[in-house]
Amino acid sequence: MKPYLKRAWAEVSLSQLGRNIEIIKNLNSQNTEIMAVVKADAYGHGDEHICKYLYNECEIKYFAVSNLDEAIAVRKYCPDSEIFILGYTPPEYAHEIAQYNIIQGVISTEYARKLAHNTPAPIRCHIKIDTGMGRIGLKHDTPELCADEIENIMKTEKLSVEGIYTHFAVADSDIPDNIAYTNKQEKFICDTYKILTERNIKFRHMHFMNSAGTCYRNNPASTLARVGIVMYGLHPDISLDIPKGIKPVMSVKAVISHVKTIRKGDCVSYGRTFTADHTMKIATVTVGYADGYSRLLSSKGEILVHGKRCKIIGRVCMDQLMIDVSDVDTQAGDIVTLIGKDGNDCITADELAGIYGTIGYEVVCGISKRVPRIYIK
Ligand SMILES: *Cc1c(COP(=O)(O)O)cnc(C)c1O
Repeated sequence: MKPYLKRAWAEVSLSQLGRNIEIIKNLNSQNTEIMAVVKADAYGHGDEHICKYLYNECEIKYFAVSNLDEAIAVRKYCPDSEIFILGYTPPEYAHEIAQYNIIQGVISTEYARKLAHNTPAPIRCHIKIDTGMGRIGLKHDTPELCADEIENIMKTEKLSVEGIYTHFAVADSDIPDNIAYTNKQEKFICDTYKILTERNIKFRHMHFMNSAGTCYRNNPASTLARVGIVMYGLHPDISLDIPKGIKPVMSVKAVISHVKTIRKGDCVSYGRTFTADHTMKIATVTVGYADGYSRLLSSKGEILVHGKRCKIIGRVCMDQLMIDVSDVDTQAGDIVTLIGKDGNDCITADELAGIYGTIGYEVVCGISKRVPRIYIK
């Protein structure tokens, strides 16, 4: 393994990724293949290693990314894979989509024409339908009208339409009103697909499942399961359990640089938000908000030291933070766990997210470039 600076680092367990994939495969029917969502550097886990492992060890053939740069990177890691761009590619790059044999999401008739106008070779695509996410895609009152527009787009020269897809807004909720909403989204795309079939138009792919769809309402009609967050072992929404055996792939660690005793009246960190009211032992940890450990965790977060939770004292700085280690036997050089398991305790990205009002997705995506990713078995 390449040596790395033992300051703050992320450990990514590829074997856990493999176990998560096996569990997800077992949720899906024969008709559904996993499309691994590896956008945003594989949710902060590092797309090169994640893609190569999925492709070489887990037989994953479909990958989804957010943009052309990510797509070209995945093409390098997984030469014969199918790579799908979920979001927008500026039309002036259309020829590269074709050149790298990438599948582009097409979000409107206008966009289809612009793409076709900018490419010498045919572009493969799936057409996006906005069934209720309100973000991108064809938006219609009825599946019939939607099918009409799809038929029209299919007449565009140099555009090869291989599928249609949509995206759920609340598949990660068990509130009845939200379930009804997702049911309606699902019905809309299935009806559109059926109408097209009746008009003798058949696509290889029709897909709508994300992680939440895959876990909570798996439907064999979706030919692909666009799985992101659950593959990395985190919850689509913290209120719902994920399948047993699925565990986080990433841990984040740092070290203690300095241990000292402070007395009543001593202050800790910027802004003097913390003043000791008794004698305590304080440790400085080599991680800060520039590593993606949010400043919103100031005075709130906890860090595991030898399996024990230690509270953050005062403000998180750019590169360092301080914790209360009064009850732990520790010294400079000891490894601490910001995210992950230590002894019998575990702090998950989902738990951290809950403390400062975000989601686990943002926590793992936010672990910055400065933090080396170390791949372990
Ligand atoms: C990001 C994304 C996904 C994956 O979502 P998860 O909740 O991480 O599974 C699927 N589909 C689309 C269109 C996305 O943008």
